[in-house]
Amino acid sequence: MGLPEDVADLIAEIERAGFLCYAVGGCVRDLLRGVEPTDFDLCTSALPQQLLPLFPENTVIPSGIAHGTVTVLWRQKSCEITTFRSDGTYLDSRHPQSVTFVPTLGQDLARRDFTVNAMALHPEKGLIDPYGGKADLKNGVLRCVGVPQKRFAEDALRILRGIRFCAALSLVPQAQTRDALFSEKERLGAVSAERCAAELCKTLCAPAGIAILSEYLPIFRVRYPQMEAPAAWKGQPSLACALALCFPHGLPPHAALPLPKRLLRKAEALCAIHAAVFRGEADAAQLCYRFGEETVKEALAPCTSPAAQTTLHALFSLLCPSRAQLALSARELLAMGLRGAEIGQALQAAYLAVNRGLVKNTPSSLRDFCQKH
Ligand code: ATP
Ligand code: MG
Repeated sequence: MGLPEDVADLIAEIERAGFLCYAVGGCVRDLLRGVEPTDFDLCTSALPQQLLPLFPENTVIPSGIAHGTVTVLWRQKSCEITTFRSDGTYLDSRHPQSVTFVPTLGQDLARRDFTVNAMALHPEKGLIDPYGGKADLKNGVLRCVGVPQKRFAEDALRILRGIRFCAALSLVPQAQTRDALFSEKERLGAVSAERCAAELCKTLCAPAGIAILSEYLPIFRVRYPQMEAPAAWKGQPSLACALALCFPHGLPPHAALPLPKRLLRKAEALCAIHAAVFRGEADAAQLCYRFGEETVKEALAPCTSPAAQTTLHALFSLLCPSRAQLALSARELLAMGLRGAEIGQALQAAYLAVNRGLVKNTPSSLRDFCQKH
């Protein structure tokens, strides 16, 4: 397991100036798992103001200077470099009152949440793993660095992060860590809605994300009382579909789940499709007309319930599932003298009639059909 050459070169560049520097956190964990890291975070003994002069002015951004983070553009990639720090006392399970820069890597690793995230890697010194993260990763164990209750009391978001890492990395919490996930759960009430929503989404997108919801449902319900553990689903639903499955009675309000409006609207549509199918109120043609073929497939393909699968089968045998393929347009109906709401009604009636085999999908038969109705 080694660091890519460009990352090793960046570390060497910082060390040439007399500082210590390591790759740290998620990238080390991913390299140990044999997964290519999406980004490389570095940590260093250099203070931000000592880092800035090491790079050309237009390649370094003081992105999070208060927390000791600068972003460096290095060989077409951006890399976050954070000064070794320990987090000060936490007032509110939310954010540290202060961060303190510290001289050693050991102090920096001690502030990190889980053993699998508290490892550092150096091109020459190799792996630095004071909490046994490598063994925990191999054995599939989620374990807090330090006393779990205390760590979750400091920052309750770690509870949701822990569950997310279980889902993403197939980890099982060690006994004390598991107890604390539950015993400290009420503290999640103090965490910002944005941070919680981001973790929920990452969990739902993880391979075992939906499967483990039922196990941790009481924890999620501290933030999302409406949440249910999806029962009959398969594969990896889209994020919008996973949200619809978790909130079958409707999504939480935007203030409680501040996600992009587009995503929420999509999830609401998928929710409405699920509800209509389970109540037996709409058929495949009606759903496709209202929501569009692709959206109906997105909603129903991951559902294993007989009602959903029957509707999906019916969708695949529709003669004209796409509204765009209907051989009749609003403009033609306008030319035929129809006005306002009549046009929409006629288009819908024509679409449903074609898909029920009552009329051929040709311009002349559809014009005849509309004249008669
Ligand atoms: P990924 O980027 O794949 O989601 P990651 O482990 O890199 O996972 P980040 O949120 O990018 O997660 O954080 C980088 C590192 O910072 C983590 O590996 C961990 O060591 C530390 N960290 C992040 N958030 C916290 C936190 N709330 N409490 C303690 N340490 C944290
Ligand atoms: Mg990361």
